[in-house]
Amino acid sequence: MESAATRLAEVDTNIARMCKIARRDRDEVTLIAVSKTHPPGRIVPLLEAGHRVFGENRVQEAQDKWPGLRADYPDVELHLIGQLQSNKAEDAVDLFDVIHSLDRPSLLKALAKAMDKAGKRVPCFVQVNIGDEDQKGGCAIPDLPAFLAKARDADIPVAGLMCLPPADIEPAPFFALLYKLAQDHGLAGLSMGMSGDYETAVQLGATHVRVGTALFGARG
Ligand SMILES: *Cc1c(COP(=O)(O)O)cnc(C)c1O
Repeated sequence: MESAATRLAEVDTNIARMCKIARRDRDEVTLIAVSKTHPPGRIVPLLEAGHRVFGENRVQEAQDKWPGLRADYPDVELHLIGQLQSNKAEDAVDLFDVIHSLDRPSLLKALAKAMDKAGKRVPCFVQVNIGDEDQKGGCAIPDLPAFLAKARDADIPVAGLMCLPPADIEPAPFFALLYKLAQDHGLAGLSMGMSGDYETAVQLGATHVRVGTALFGARG
C-alpha cells in the first residue's frame, strides 16, 4: 500500500497539472485533507509530510482529535466541511479556522452571536444547494442574494461559495454554475471538488478542494 506521503504527493501533482492546463497559479488552490473518521495515528503521517490544512465534518469528532494534534503542530488550519447545528456554533467558532457549511438564516444568527462572544470572525463559505436537491443542505440559488446580504449585515466574513453536486451525474456543469454565482456576487473563494472530481473542479476555478479518500484510503 502507498504511504500517505506518496498519496499526498500524487494529489498535489494532479492539482499542479490542472492549474497549469487552466493557466492558474498553483497557489490559488488549497488542498483540504479531509480526515473525518480517521484516527490521529492516520493523520500524523500527513502532518509529518508537511501538510497543514485539514477538514472535519463533525464538531464533536474534531474536538476529540485536534486539540492534541495541534499541541504538536500549532500551525494547523482546520476547516469545518459538514453540516453544522446551531447549538454547536460556539464550539465550531472556537475550534475551526474556516467554516464551509453556512447555509441557513438560523445558523447565520447563531454563528454571528458566537463570533461576537468569542471576539473573532471566522471566514465562512456559503453552501449552495447547487443541484436543487431536497435531501441536501445549502442555500437555494434564488435565496442567495438575500442570504449574502444577511451575512454582510451580521458582519460574517464570507470567503466564497461551497457546493456538493448531486451524486452520479457529471459534476462539471454544477461547478461551472457555482463559479458563475461567485462571480456574480464578487466572491473569490470556491470550495468544490472531492476525491472523484477535484481535478475537474480545479479546472473550473476551485480555490479549495476537499479530498479525503484519495489521501487516506477508504473510510472504515
Ligand atoms: C467526506 C467529504 C469530502 C471528502 O470526500 P472524499 O470523496 O473522501 O474525498 C468532501 N466534502 C465533504 C462535505 C465531505 O463530507
